[in-house]
Amino acid sequence: MDPEGPIRLAVSACLLGKPVRWDGGHKRDPLLAGMLAGLLVGALEYAEVCPEVAAGLGTPRPPIRLSGNPGRYRALGAEDPSLDPSEALRLQGRRAAAEMEEDWIDGAVLKSGSPSCGIRGVTVYGPRGGIRGRGGSGLFAAELMAARPELPMIDEIGLNDPPRREHFFGRVVAGRRWRCLLGGGTDSAADFAALAAFHQAHRLTLLSHGVYAGALWKALFAGRKAMGAREAAEYGRAFQQALGRKPTRRRHGWVLRRLAQAAFPAMERRRGDRLRKAVEAYASGKTPRSTPLLMLREHFEGHPHPLAEGQTYLAPHPLELLGAVQTAGI
Ligand code: SF4
Repeated sequence: MDPEGPIRLAVSACLLGKPVRWDGGHKRDPLLAGMLAGLLVGALEYAEVCPEVAAGLGTPRPPIRLSGNPGRYRALGAEDPSLDPSEALRLQGRRAAAEMEEDWIDGAVLKSGSPSCGIRGVTVYGPRGGIRGRGGSGLFAAELMAARPELPMIDEIGLNDPPRREHFFGRVVAGRRWRCLLGGGTDSAADFAALAAFHQAHRLTLLSHGVYAGALWKALFAGRKAMGAREAAEYGRAFQQALGRKPTRRRHGWVLRRLAQAAFPAMERRRGDRLRKAVEAYASGKTPRSTPLLMLREHFEGHPHPLAEGQTYLAPHPLELLGAVQTAGI
């Protein structure tokens, strides 16, 4: 697998404009369609999923909704509660989890609010039809999340929110790098050394998520010199969990200031002033992160420094910066 190759996403088919909804319609998301067909063609690949169609419910079909007590709900027919495709939808979730693993899917974009695809915040109804709560997860999505907790997932609402989009793609890209590393093996001292190098290269990225790389490493591997498949899987989960913490402008500002401090001694004064202003302009929300990041990257290319060496933070994937570039988000 190529770490620089296209990112592979699983996408709810109705978001792509496919007429697979219960009423024969779709919910095409213009941003997602634009990303896949235009702006990011070649950088993104996708596989469609529609669990309700895959479960054999057909199109058009009677609408379903989550029904029951929070935490113990099923997907039942909205008009005829004797219709109960819950187990079929759960089975689709488990199947998709295995297939996505095999197909090296890097993340999933699923339809919000759906009793099948909704990641969270799905309306749950009581037996008499009244709303019981809005904290449900679609049954397909719930199984997928349970089987693949490390797989980054987002709905189209999150995708249209620049900071959440950037966070999602950051996790997707880092997860891809991790799986590429695993492709090299997991059961030798050399593999363990490669893992240590991988972890070290994400030190500043982890810091921007509020996680100290040294503490995480110690908690997982104190005293170890080699790892097996179990430890590798444990690390993958802990790594994605750490990246699941939302990075904030304050944390990014802190990382950028540390890098700038390391850069200043080898920098001509006027350039140093420009860098300082760019970092502070970002920290106060006036410019995107890409501005000081680019200045820092250029500087460290000519003037290597141990703090910056090999750091993924300084070389984000274009997808990671998409949100920030477009909207001056985090
Ligand atoms: S929300 Fe999911 S199950 Fe419903 S139509 Fe879209 S892809 Fe199919």
